[in-house]
Amino acid sequence: MEVIINIMIFMFGLCLGSFYACIGYRIPNDISTVKPNSFCPKCKEPLKWYMNIPLFSYLFLKGKCAYCKEKISIYYFLTELLTGVLFVSSYIYFGLGQNFYISIILISVLAVTINTDLKYYYISDRVIVLSILSELLIYLYYLDGRDIIYYIVSALVMFGIMFGVKLLGDKAFKKESLGGGDIKLMLLIGLTLGMIDGITSLLISSIMALILSILVMKKNKEGIIPFGPFLIIGTIIMYILSYNGMTII
Ligand SMILES: [Zn+2]
Repeated sequence: MEVIINIMIFMFGLCLGSFYACIGYRIPNDISTVKPNSFCPKCKEPLKWYMNIPLFSYLFLKGKCAYCKEKISIYYFLTELLTGVLFVSSYIYFGLGQNFYISIILISVLAVTINTDLKYYYISDRVIVLSILSELLIYLYYLDGRDIIYYIVSALVMFGIMFGVKLLGDKAFKKESLGGGDIKLMLLIGLTLGMIDGITSLLISSIMALILSILVMKKNKEGIIPFGPFLIIGTIIMYILSYNGMTII
């Protein structure tokens, strides 16, 4: 039975991952997320149902559009796989319940943001708002009023801290130091982790981004690093650690 549940959650993750990759392309390009049905970005030809099966279609079409042979971005395949694997991992780790629901929200934000931020340096407001509202609903169901207020205050404090850092950074570097999306993500991070773990996750994310920026800067002179995915990965790491009662500071 457990195996069947795992497979179902994996497939659920694959399907959502496919949707996230799709909206990760559509939102930055200003295309409706509901209509039209899936199409090839190059030749605009609508896709048949069998070209829309997560993972398999990419392999079966050998990563090319069936009509115009344009290469399909590997991001689609990777987003589907990542979402499926992380969904089932978090079910195995947390079991059903509050932690699982929160973690699939974080994984979902990661899946969309990897597509929008890495490719377009863009983090969607809609994704942030939806994830915050979903978390609040989960909290309303599982937590009592005092805890909920703590998490909301934490969200606002984290947002305030990051906004202050941005103002200082903008002055120091005389250009935009942090994107608006990164600052809005603080609301989600504070709401998920609370203040202390939230700040710790910020440190984890910054160290990861710093290491990668040193590696990438060698190749790319501009060395722009989209910070969003790091922020969410740091949040997920911290969420896993704090579930086990582990804290770094
Ligand atoms: Zn095509």
